[in-house]
Amino acid sequence: MDVGKFLIPKKILLTIISVTFVIAAFFLLQKFSLNLSESFAKDTLVPTELKEALYWQDAGQGKVQCFLCPRQCLIPVNQRGFCRARKNIKGKLYCLTYGQPVAIHVDPIEKKPLFHVYPGTKSFSIATAGCNLRCKFCQNWEISQLDPESVKVAFVSPQDIVKEAKETGSKTIAFTYTEPTIFYEYMLDIAKLAKEEGISCVMHSAGFINEKPLRQLAKYLTAANIDLKGFSEKYYSSFCEGSLRSVLNSLKILKEEGVWIEITNLIIPTANDSDEDIYNLCLWIKDNLGPDTPVHFSRFFPMYKLLDLSPTPLKTLILAKEIAQKIGLYYVYIGNVPENVGEDTICPVCLKLLIKRTGYTVLENNIIKGKCKFCGAKIFGVWD
Ligand code: SF4
Repeated sequence: MDVGKFLIPKKILLTIISVTFVIAAFFLLQKFSLNLSESFAKDTLVPTELKEALYWQDAGQGKVQCFLCPRQCLIPVNQRGFCRARKNIKGKLYCLTYGQPVAIHVDPIEKKPLFHVYPGTKSFSIATAGCNLRCKFCQNWEISQLDPESVKVAFVSPQDIVKEAKETGSKTIAFTYTEPTIFYEYMLDIAKLAKEEGISCVMHSAGFINEKPLRQLAKYLTAANIDLKGFSEKYYSSFCEGSLRSVLNSLKILKEEGVWIEITNLIIPTANDSDEDIYNLCLWIKDNLGPDTPVHFSRFFPMYKLLDLSPTPLKTLILAKEIAQKIGLYYVYIGNVPENVGEDTICPVCLKLLIKRTGYTVLENNIIKGKCKFCGAKIFGVWD
């Protein structure tokens, strides 16, 4: 028998194999793309706990524009803003941080730092993940530079925060550690509720926020410590990816709205430690916020992306304090130093010791009803 005639010619065999391969690949790809579109669809569903953001508008073609902070991000569908905390889902902007605190602590209010607000009291302090700046020296970068949903936390309602604050005997609720602007809606709801319940709210912020949301928030804030990180646009853009002008504007708005302001200036060797920068910063504070605005010069320690710099020498901080006092600022403090060289409050009139502190502990308080116990001079701040 001639078996040769039953054999398939090599050319035809190769063609059959190729066609089979193409068909198999087609089905495989179809299945894969189905999976992809399924997961894409899942991702674009709006989880029930997500809160729609405030201060945004439709920008057409599915995009949205956020107006919460000066970046004013234009965000395509399924993308998030620079802060990572606000996401465009199906053409609407949602905040991913609402009810998602990654840090809850009861701190002394001195830790904020707020030295002229209910001294010696407890402050119920919260933060969520995310930030709208990129400071190279961030002390909390492990949480500030995270995607909010990458940290699994149980939902904590504003009601629960206020209830916990009351139960812990906290006089204030503080929005702190990371940048509170990126949990604006959560902060606002808590602050409104806290006000009804007789608890004051304070924040420690970089002040990089637009005017309208800041004015709305300010109605529910008692005090704010604002980081004035330096005094040049160059410094703000190269070290923080922010802008000085926006922060100065926020400070003026807070002052106009009657929020008690304290300033923190982290002095970093070779970056923002020139006498000229410190002089200009203090002069601006005196002229625009008043000489009664407390200023905290804070010591830098190598952190995050600035590991190659040295800690701020104590003499630089002392010099900064002298410059501020010569300009005429009444209350100037030095923070983050082991030595007790600049934490006490001194009466600007009789120069007697008003509040003695060590670390975050108040050892002695000679302010009575907002006045110096010794000479009766008015001491500016928020007192009982
Ligand atoms: S809050 Fe976030 S999303 Fe909105 S503008 Fe600022 S960085 Fe962009």
